[in-house]
Amino acid sequence: MPARVYLGLGSNLNSPPRQIKAALKAIAQLPGTQLIRCAPWYKSLAIGPGSQPSYINTVVEIDTALQPRALLQALQQIETRQGRKRIVRWGPRTLDLDILLYAKRSLNSRQLQIPHPRLGERNFVLQPLADIAPELSLPDGTPLARLLANCSPAGIVRLVAVGSGGRTD
Ligand code: ADP
Ligand code: MG
Repeated sequence: MPARVYLGLGSNLNSPPRQIKAALKAIAQLPGTQLIRCAPWYKSLAIGPGSQPSYINTVVEIDTALQPRALLQALQQIETRQGRKRIVRWGPRTLDLDILLYAKRSLNSRQLQIPHPRLGERNFVLQPLADIAPELSLPDGTPLARLLANCSPAGIVRLVAVGSGGRTD
């Protein structure tokens, strides 16, 4: 049985829309993995050291037969293929792929924490996640809607969907 998984995508270097599109394609091609849906894209102000370009962020829902560690490894390969260099923590990056939720599993190892430990603080993750899965709750039962209600909406703007011919908000 594949697991229902939510991934966060972010980019603020080297044509972010192109990076996100390439990442979506690469995720859809992972072994045993089906891309179910992609949330709207958001532009968000960078957090982290120094002044950085804004990010494009979105979330995807996938079904995957990959186990959490294998999935993390596969996502890190995609990050590397798309030119990610790990120089400064939270520094600018061509691509950041995070496992937000993996079915109802909780994991707490050094390399991998699920749910993603900063999920509740990041409106640029919570908002797109709620757009595609408003009824979701965390493994401990916390509703996503409550996290979103407790998180400031400042600093993010929903982008017009490509090809929609109009605003989406
Ligand atoms: P962030 O995504 O918080 O901005 P980074 O991408 O620089 O930070 O962090 C990378 C490290 O975070 C990876 O080496 C990975 O081992 C670890 N990590 C822990 N939990 C997760 C998760 N749920 N998804 C992705 N990476 C994770
Ligand atoms: Mg990351």
